[in-house]
Amino acid sequence: MITVKNLHKKFGQLHILKGIDLEISKGEVVVIIGPSGSGKSTFLRCLNLLEEPTEGEVTFEGESITDKRHNINKTREKMGMVFQQFNLFPHKSVIDNITMAPIRVKKMDKAKAEAIAMDLLQTVGLADKRDAYPSQLSGGQKQRIAIARALAMEPHVMLFDEPTSALDPEMVGEVLEVMKSLADKGMTMVIVTHEMGFAREVGDRILFMDQGVIMEQGTPQQVFNSPQNQRTQDFLSKVL
Ligand code: ADP
Ligand code: MG
Repeated sequence: MITVKNLHKKFGQLHILKGIDLEISKGEVVVIIGPSGSGKSTFLRCLNLLEEPTEGEVTFEGESITDKRHNINKTREKMGMVFQQFNLFPHKSVIDNITMAPIRVKKMDKAKAEAIAMDLLQTVGLADKRDAYPSQLSGGQKQRIAIARALAMEPHVMLFDEPTSALDPEMVGEVLEVMKSLADKGMTMVIVTHEMGFAREVGDRILFMDQGVIMEQGTPQQVFNSPQNQRTQDFLSKVL
């Protein structure tokens, strides 16, 4: 579904991503772990061109999206993204947050968009919040709404950048639960997280990123139980 070839990203003189190669299959759950500043967010943002790669190629469903002639807006509709800071529209109700993109971008009629939104609200356990405003929700609820909003566009892949890092500890579980159920339904997912228990349980493949490269990758069993790289071992010894 996604192929990354020799991806580099520089910010001025700073060489942040230093040659990343990766293939992600349909239905796969890829979890990216690694120290702060290693380039995890930059990498995720290069997958949908929120950051423009300095060098290399990203293809999505067979099309080169780094090709200058490619219409990235069409592709972004198929790539849902969820951030650490929920980024809900504060002046819009929950239902309007979820239906806005399908109505404006997909030209869906309002009744259909609302029906889909209500299904998604059921899925994330927040049907009773349809008319609430973001300020009336807890962090965990906001993040579940942000996930529902991304899903409303019927993405083919979901990108998560530390979706639980801004949450109070008691709210982490409810968001991971929603993500796990998405994975169980076969959604293709790329997840940056520090939740190692979740990574082990839900990930099909773990990537350990450090200093702008994928230092090590493998099944959760391989990476967590017998890491081969010294830097992976050092990192895991600090976080496990
Ligand atoms: P991670 O998500 O692993 O913590 P990031 O991808 O956010 O790492 O950042 C990697 C490095 O790139 C950091 O040193 C960060 O300061 C730098 N960086 C990220 N975005 C920018 C930017 N827009 N301009 C300059 N430097 C940036
Ligand atoms: Mg980050």
